[in-house]
Amino acid sequence: MFKRWLIIISAIAITMFSLAGCKSGEFDILIKNGTIVDGSGNPSFSGDIGITGDTIVEIGDLSGRTAAKVIDAKGLAVSPGFIDMHTHCDGGLGRPGANANLNYLIQGTTTVVTGNCGDGTFKVAETKEKWEKQGIGTNAAHLVGFGTVRGSVMGREQREPTPEELDKMKEIVRQAMEEGAWGMSSGLEYVPGRFASTEEIIEVAKVVGEFGGIYTSHQRNEFDGTLEATKETIRIAEEAGVRGNTAHFKVCRKDYWETFKETVDLINEARERGISVTADMYPYDRAGGGRIISVTRNAGLWTPFRVPEDMEPFAEMRKKMRDKTLSDADQEKLKEQYIDELAKALSDKSKREQIKQAVLVGTPEKPSGIALVGWDGYGIEASKKNTDLNGKILSDIALEQNRDAFDLAAELVIDEPDMWLAVGVMSDEDMKYAMKQDWLMFSSDGDASPILKETDTPRIGHPRAFSSQARVLRKYVREDKVLTLENAVRMMTSLPADLLQMKSRGLLKKGYKADIAIFDPDTIKDNATFADARQYSTGTEYVIVNGKISIENGEYDGALNGKLLLSTENK
Ligand SMILES: [Zn+2]
Repeated sequence: MFKRWLIIISAIAITMFSLAGCKSGEFDILIKNGTIVDGSGNPSFSGDIGITGDTIVEIGDLSGRTAAKVIDAKGLAVSPGFIDMHTHCDGGLGRPGANANLNYLIQGTTTVVTGNCGDGTFKVAETKEKWEKQGIGTNAAHLVGFGTVRGSVMGREQREPTPEELDKMKEIVRQAMEEGAWGMSSGLEYVPGRFASTEEIIEVAKVVGEFGGIYTSHQRNEFDGTLEATKETIRIAEEAGVRGNTAHFKVCRKDYWETFKETVDLINEARERGISVTADMYPYDRAGGGRIISVTRNAGLWTPFRVPEDMEPFAEMRKKMRDKTLSDADQEKLKEQYIDELAKALSDKSKREQIKQAVLVGTPEKPSGIALVGWDGYGIEASKKNTDLNGKILSDIALEQNRDAFDLAAELVIDEPDMWLAVGVMSDEDMKYAMKQDWLMFSSDGDASPILKETDTPRIGHPRAFSSQARVLRKYVREDKVLTLENAVRMMTSLPADLLQMKSRGLLKKGYKADIAIFDPDTIKDNATFADARQYSTGTEYVIVNGKISIENGEYDGALNGKLLLSTENK
């Protein structure tokens, strides 16, 4: 009898205890013993954070307090979740498989700004419904794309809009802002954005100004005309009454690096005159790129090596390669033959001259990559065969070897047609100068990638989508010591939140939303490289999105805790 009672009492006690264990406590989550880097740039301090629902309700010494879930953050930095000011995650966030946005989330990034480079959809409400129905792993703040808007009204036509067309564009932007866009992006190096005059953009951006939104631009030129292009951004900010931002800020050609500091100073002068202008930058001194030759297309916009469009047998071979019924093996064989034919053509004096013309100049409608960017704008980043050339700029190699740059490129393309080059080479030293400015933010320019599988093989490409935030903390804080941890965190949290005028995110503060990264500042590390661009960063232990844990002990639990944040619900 006594035994039976004991069993019943113990069962009740266990039930009560486990109820207490999983439900009660003053907070839902209590983060204890962490080093709090609150996003303001102020010195870090030891403390605890209490979270209830999606909100930070207390911060300070919370010893003795209880919570349903306690995280011991001893030895770890606790910061606001990072806000990436410039991404193209709207590609992946809309695709099942990539919608977790794990390549960002696992770095501690909890909000990505989408719709950049003029490309963002203007259908904000529809996008929110779609994304949140399938779920997204991080928050997003969306920008309407000027290019998308112009394209929907005028197609790809190179002309001024009629007054009616201009009105139509403004109406679409107004609708997008009413639906919750945070501003407008432009991509003025691309069609159709490049066909728009400054005055046209100002007119459209005025609508954004009425809503207190931002104007962020992939400027008209990032090579020899960066200074002029930045003047345009400043003028648009001033005359449209918007906060202006230079996106993925850089000067991409070695011969023009000296203009970068001038451009930084130009932004400082504008700010002194009271114009709101800032910039974001990804933490790499190399831009995106591609292979040295595109065999199937002959030439993408930036591809350095090409043949004249109608030169045979290449035109005929490309036609064959576009046949979708071709097997992979046959496709491969044709590619090899193409390069063999190219080698033959290059040893023929007259054909070599014609190819050289195509590489150096191109045609008026389709200028060559070299005409646009110069040999000083290309950096070899992922060569498997000529590994000693990795990290070097084409014009520097030519100079070192005392040869003509075309002759060098012609030899490389035959030797290693898969060689990967960055289009756009920046100066790390100049980047560090920019980082010292109090208006510079970090970004990545990457997309949400499908969750990696064990069977995935290394892919050549730019690593920035997997690594930008972790790289800032590893390279520029821990190794190069250019930035303090507090300031780097500020550049990735409260500064972008300020630009967007996003209330209640970007700081660890009572009443703010619980978007939180907990990482080890001594080990956080970017693992992706140009040769193996998809590798998750490591060193982030916990990530909390809207008050819910998404990463625990460095592992992703499959949760989709993100939201498409609306400027109209900005509280
Ligand atoms: Zn861009």
